[in-house]
Amino acid sequence: MGSVDTYKPASLPTTTTSYPTDHTVGEPTITPWFIDNKFVQSSSTELIDLFDPATNQLVTRVPQNTQDELVAAVDSAEKAFPSWKQTSVLARQQIMFKFVALIRENWDRLAAVITLEQGKTVADAKGDVLRGLQVAEAACAAPELLKGEVLPIGKDLETRTYLEPLGVVAAICPFNFPAMIPLWSLPIATITGNTLVLKPSERDPGAAMVLAELCQKAGFPDGVINIVHGTHRAVNFILDEPRIKAISFVGSNAAGEYVYARGSANGKRVQANLGAKNHALVMPDADLDQAANAIAGAAFGAAGQRCMALSTLLYVGDGQDLIQKLVDSAKGLSMDGGFQKGADLGPVISPESKARVESLIASAEEDGATILLDGRNAKPQDSKFANGNWVGPTIITGVKPSMRCYKEEIFGPVLLCASVDSLDAGIQFINDNEYGNGVAIFTSSGSIADYFRRNIQAGQVGINLPIPVPLPMFSFTGNKRSVAGGGATTFYGRPGVRFYTQQQTVTSRWPISKAVVSGKADVIMPQHI
Ligand code: NAD
Repeated sequence: MGSVDTYKPASLPTTTTSYPTDHTVGEPTITPWFIDNKFVQSSSTELIDLFDPATNQLVTRVPQNTQDELVAAVDSAEKAFPSWKQTSVLARQQIMFKFVALIRENWDRLAAVITLEQGKTVADAKGDVLRGLQVAEAACAAPELLKGEVLPIGKDLETRTYLEPLGVVAAICPFNFPAMIPLWSLPIATITGNTLVLKPSERDPGAAMVLAELCQKAGFPDGVINIVHGTHRAVNFILDEPRIKAISFVGSNAAGEYVYARGSANGKRVQANLGAKNHALVMPDADLDQAANAIAGAAFGAAGQRCMALSTLLYVGDGQDLIQKLVDSAKGLSMDGGFQKGADLGPVISPESKARVESLIASAEEDGATILLDGRNAKPQDSKFANGNWVGPTIITGVKPSMRCYKEEIFGPVLLCASVDSLDAGIQFINDNEYGNGVAIFTSSGSIADYFRRNIQAGQVGINLPIPVPLPMFSFTGNKRSVAGGGATTFYGRPGVRFYTQQQTVTSRWPISKAVVSGKADVIMPQHI
């Protein structure tokens, strides 16, 4: 293990008041990592180039931490655990209050870093921060959430429960929500008394690094939060390191099913939120203007790179009006650099992602669907964005479940459309899909909405609402292949607290009189009655 003092100090390129406001980049930086409350340089020679998706200009190089550095991060978290566990929940809550205030103070800075590295618009990036901030705010209720239960169960007998932290835990994050997803785990993991090793996406770790600075300023003790970088090797290290007791993973099925299997086989708790194919079902009685706007926003916003993006539209009836309104709404969206005024959607994350999305659009045509609006050659007018990873809003009709574009998660601004004969046929279509993250129905009938709710298998249902991500006093409740392990452990809310704690039950007897104690050992299984 390297001593932390032997690492070269490093700093972040942004401050609370100084951060990018456009797509101009200077000399590329090297992203530091974070151990013992310090930003330090990695000694790794394996560096991943990170480009602004709107221009493909080099922004920073992200190191893949060496084995020694990964071990040192766990050493640091392990060392910090005993005293953090002993720190009262009220003291931890005070730190979380400060962390929340600092996120608010650095909200624009966080959004700017997200826009530069991930590509989404500044307004959308602010929403990314907000949905994570809300988890940190909800975590401030820890004194209430960590209360155990107590029940007198017999004469002089009672059982009580305690929720104990697990120890060192880890989080592995995807690229599409660089602030929100780290904040799905960090506040709950730490306020429950665990120490954390977090690996942001190697494609946009900047927001997580700013959050690390805010953790340090909020007063988290050294080692409670450590941030490492890398890809498969770092993930395998986390999966196999015996001192890591639990892993929160969010990302694709390819990686997440592997993480779940290997982490679980190693005896760890694993919660894993995975890919999706989210449907909207529009009934003939729906308010079509409202539905079309909501669906266009949810399909094309964030360039479709949301696990809750509405990527498939089903409609009962001929759908002509609805589709026309959708095309009009999509054409009205401005695709531009995320810092540009009025931008509605930015680029996709990488040239590889653009090529993949475009090949899925092409496959739809080859499979017999109709491309009504084709975003493949779209790009912003400004020549500085000529090399960005642009895919404009795309609407494809006549889609069948057997088509490749339907079977794979596209993760781009592409809306697939199909007509269904009835409410039941729509429900069947959706339930036949292997994913079950989110779904939305648009109708003016309460009884249709209720029938849909009772028969649909998706875990998060929106009624006249396109992206039904629950606020953190609830939990993120994906279903089917959108979660590993059948969704038994879900992110944030009370289930999130349960994920990060071990229940301990204590049954105690305090006899008030010696007279109740018999002279002979009792050999029967205690029945507490
Ligand atoms: P990804 O699976 O490529 O990466 C996620 C994390 O896993 C990253 O930290 C990455 O370094 C690591 N990783 C990638 N491939 C790996 C491998 N083969 N072995 C070990 N580790 C690996 O996901 P992404 O492209 O960053 O994110 C997009 C995906 O995340 C989409 O499928 C999206 O639906 C999903 N997602 C799901 C939710 C949800 O709550 N269900 C939320 C956000 C994103």
